[in-house]
Amino acid sequence: MKNKTFLIIEDNQLNMKLVRTLLQLENYNVLEATTAENGIGLARRHRPDVILMDIQLPGMDGLEATRLIKNDPELQDIVVVALTSFVMPGDKEKALDAGCDGYIPKPIDIHEFGIMLAQYCDQNGRET
Ligand code: MN
Repeated sequence: MKNKTFLIIEDNQLNMKLVRTLLQLENYNVLEATTAENGIGLARRHRPDVILMDIQLPGMDGLEATRLIKNDPELQDIVVVALTSFVMPGDKEKALDAGCDGYIPKPIDIHEFGIMLAQYCDQNGRET
């Protein structure tokens, strides 16, 4: 099943374009926001299966947005995957501590990306 919906929250146009293209190649539905505030609004309206969350964003950052989502009973079931250029030790832990269900480092490994997306979709279907 590939009719899953992904919400990309990313302020960098090139990254947005790359991720959008990769998702569309896999026939996923794609929603896009360039700020956390707009992304959360889209999440409330459209209930995506997975959110790909950039961490460095103008205004509310991705960690704060993830905490908000994971503390909201209406949104907390959405799988949130941190998508970030932070590769320093400890940043993965920060993302997971904030409630992210997974972590994809940038630059994106195009070959691995599709496999990881499918895994995160499966995660969403799981009853916890
Ligand atoms: Mn960014």
